[in-house]
Amino acid sequence: MVSMDTIVSLCKRRGFIFQSSEIYGGFASTWDYGPLGAELKRNVKNAWWRTVVQERDDIVGLDAAILMATPVWAASGHLEAFTDPLVDCKQCQQRFRADKVEERCPNCGGELTEARQFNMMFKTFVGPVEDDAAVAYLRPETAQGIFVNFSSVQATMRKKLPFGIAQIGKAFRNEITPGNFTFRTREFEQMEIEYFVKPGTDEEWHRRWIDERFEWYVRFGMRRENLRLREHEPDELAHYARSCYDVEYQFPMGWSELEGIANRTDYDLRKHTERSNKDLSYFDPETEERYFPYVIEPSGGVDRTVLAFLIDAYHEEKVRKQKRRVLRFHPALAPIKVAVLPLLRNRPELVQTARDLAARLRPHVMTMYDDTASIGRLYRRQDEIGTPFCVTVDVDSLEDGQATIRERDSMEQVRLPIAEIPDYLMEKLRW
Ligand code: ATP
Repeated sequence: MVSMDTIVSLCKRRGFIFQSSEIYGGFASTWDYGPLGAELKRNVKNAWWRTVVQERDDIVGLDAAILMATPVWAASGHLEAFTDPLVDCKQCQQRFRADKVEERCPNCGGELTEARQFNMMFKTFVGPVEDDAAVAYLRPETAQGIFVNFSSVQATMRKKLPFGIAQIGKAFRNEITPGNFTFRTREFEQMEIEYFVKPGTDEEWHRRWIDERFEWYVRFGMRRENLRLREHEPDELAHYARSCYDVEYQFPMGWSELEGIANRTDYDLRKHTERSNKDLSYFDPETEERYFPYVIEPSGGVDRTVLAFLIDAYHEEKVRKQKRRVLRFHPALAPIKVAVLPLLRNRPELVQTARDLAARLRPHVMTMYDDTASIGRLYRRQDEIGTPFCVTVDVDSLEDGQATIRERDSMEQVRLPIAEIPDYLMEKLRW
């Protein structure tokens, strides 16, 4: 298994992920996605959106605001219950999550204080006056934006149960102990579905969603043996959940959560109805009854998923006595799909042919033209960022109008007429 240090250093060296505010010494546990990281992350989100929204007719999308009215968080229970137990070390003053440490300080072995509850929501003020009436919170989950819009979405889209609302967006939690690179940060992105069902069918739908979500990771190339399901113990269930299963990935630091799939019952819609005096119940045209739908919530983290795909794709192998590092990304996720490389950069006709081919590919797929090193080096660079195909234009290309396509994983090469290459690659990259 690859170490986290190897992944962190590859991410930095190749432009996937940088330390935030690095020129000022960095800002703890915050990370910026570089050019390739931004592509990878966008591809993960697109793969998710396409699977859960585009390929289904029972889920629609939403993009709600990060700032919401404070009563939302009172109704949802987050003001009161979105807390982690905090302990301080009496000796070195470091703080830890009580449920993540044993009896003594993991830093210095000192004695720990009694645990007290610490609310993880980020507080801010809206407008120029910093008084109680101006207090607002950055959302700690995207879910509430979905619940408060439930009736508007249902009515405007004329949806009948069962149906879902999907959303991708930033969430913020003032985590006591962030860490493990992008695994736990204070600002992160979530991909959430709230799937509304008739009460009584919730357990069956819960099971279906657990399977669907597990298989999604496999569909996009994650190795099955590195994934597992884990049921929450009653004492770790969130305040709104009846039962919850996590999809876990075998990270370098151990099995850890990628996504939680919870049965949230009718908790949220009921609470918002009580507090807002707006009826969020559903009228079932078939049975002519009115009731609160139950909610199954698959809730994943974009950043954790990106990290897991990076780790899972990472391979080291020996090729002609040299170490080859390769990211075996699924074509849907690879940041760059095709690299076009001229064998010689001092031959203008060759460079022009390669540039023309890259220009033809660009409207269809992320394409990189590179002539800044020898071909061996260029291949190694592309392997290390996970580019599925390299096309090399050589001296013969000028004569026979053909170029060589090299596939990343097998390193096999085929030679094809340049005119046919875009269609050939498009077919290979389709998903
Ligand atoms: P954990 O137990 O790891 O704190 P959680 O069970 O509180 O996570 P949920 O509330 O279920 O997490 O959030 C849904 C998803 O959002 C998680 O599965 C994870 O992928 C992501 N997520 C939650 N907190 C963070 C964080 N601090 N940094 C990055 N991703 C996060």
